[in-house]
Amino acid sequence: MKTTNIVKMSVKDKKNVRPVSKVRGMIHSFETFGALDGPGLRFVVFFEGCPLRCAYCHNRDMLDLKDYMEMSAKELYEKVKDYKEYFGKQGGVTISGGDPVFQPKFLLEFLKLCKKGGIHTTLDTSLMTSRAVLDSVRKYVDVFMISLKHFDDDIHKSLTGVSNKPILENIRYLSDKGAKIWFRYVVLPGYTDTRANLKALREFLKEVKFELIDLLPYHTYGVYKWKKLGLKYGLDKIKPPTMRKVLKIKKMLEKEGYKVLLNS
Ligand code: SF4
Repeated sequence: MKTTNIVKMSVKDKKNVRPVSKVRGMIHSFETFGALDGPGLRFVVFFEGCPLRCAYCHNRDMLDLKDYMEMSAKELYEKVKDYKEYFGKQGGVTISGGDPVFQPKFLLEFLKLCKKGGIHTTLDTSLMTSRAVLDSVRKYVDVFMISLKHFDDDIHKSLTGVSNKPILENIRYLSDKGAKIWFRYVVLPGYTDTRANLKALREFLKEVKFELIDLLPYHTYGVYKWKKLGLKYGLDKIKPPTMRKVLKIKKMLEKEGYKVLLNS
């Protein structure tokens, strides 16, 4: 009879074995060497799914959980790790989407692996999530890149499908905790460039600590995705803002002493 060296595990050993995670993530796509999504050169991972339904979403194809690759956090990390030598001092991974907070368990596993591997992490998010999720991920995120949508709650609901209250509360909370925050602000004519909304923006910015604000002129590059999905694009009549208007907002914010990016 053939003999084998079977080493039986004691009850104590069994308790010490960490189970392999069964959490699988839904990844829509990747972008290598992104230069506009956080500090330095970034590997951008687009997570599938989002708790919002913005009327102007340019990644509409990432929301319906229909078109994605399934992978473990470890598999995703191995992909990102291959690019580590290109990140330099500032770069790293940007987790975007969709909105990564839609997959909180997977997000947390992936963030932990990145931190352990010494990879800088930026989380591109609406911050529409629970305090428990925020607390679980925040110590693994180097930069929170948060989209500010609208300060009037009714308009926010009609533009995004959700209230802005939990989002603004989460931002205040993160600011109190000393998180590094970058804001993104889409200049959407008739909505976010109004006198009232810009006043509310300036008031809110006084309440929180942040590093910079990135102005994104509204564009229509993603409209074809809505059409391809057979969905009606509700902002058809809105044209992108003039550069003059965007520069005026930039100047206004710089006058308040803020660092303002205008990359796109
Ligand atoms: S938060 Fe971003 S990804 Fe989600 S619906 Fe809005 S624009 Fe699209």
